[in-house]
Amino acid sequence: MAETARAMSQMGLVTGASGNVSTRLAPSDSEEPLLAITPMATSYATMEADDIVVTDFDIEPVEGELMPSSESMLHVAIYQARPDVGAVIHTHSVYSSVLAVSGLDIPPVLDEVVVNIGGPIRVSEYGFPSSEALAQNVTAALGDRKAAIIANHGAVGVGRDLEEALEICALVERVSEIFVHATALGQIIHLPPEAVEAETAIYRMRNSDIGGVE
Ligand SMILES: [Zn+2]
Repeated sequence: MAETARAMSQMGLVTGASGNVSTRLAPSDSEEPLLAITPMATSYATMEADDIVVTDFDIEPVEGELMPSSESMLHVAIYQARPDVGAVIHTHSVYSSVLAVSGLDIPPVLDEVVVNIGGPIRVSEYGFPSSEALAQNVTAALGDRKAAIIANHGAVGVGRDLEEALEICALVERVSEIFVHATALGQIIHLPPEAVEAETAIYRMRNSDIGGVE
């Protein structure tokens, strides 16, 4: 996890201690679900394994010295809504933040986005940082896809594991940058509907365990 957090920082997806990374810890049947999450206000560039905090889904710390990320509620809301998700990464990457400020959803404009993220990338309704409203609004914007933009704030990407979640976050930033530039050029050509349909079918086939959200 510390490695993913450092990678996220090196890739320019966050600055300083902004953004956060978590992974679901597979509980045995008798145990309550837990997550491991990056701590509040700790620079990612130098993050070590000992800095990671383990909490339950009420965000009560179970292990670790530091305070869990202030956006822990967002991570828990996503794990509760999406049993297929094993890792969540929240970034403040620049181009997705441009769209977060503009309130523009990213329509299906690149093949790889539909196949890997599952369709358009929606901008959530606004929620105050660290609030339950933010957690619920972003989970709603995520739906059954793998990324969403957080209104006036940043982005979130999810995956089966940390590696996939990080790849998704990098892809979100890439398509955001492309979409911002294409919007500035004044012309956006959407993928043909039949391509979107075929690519969405591939996404659903690869992710057949995604629950019935939206
Ligand atoms: Zn944030």
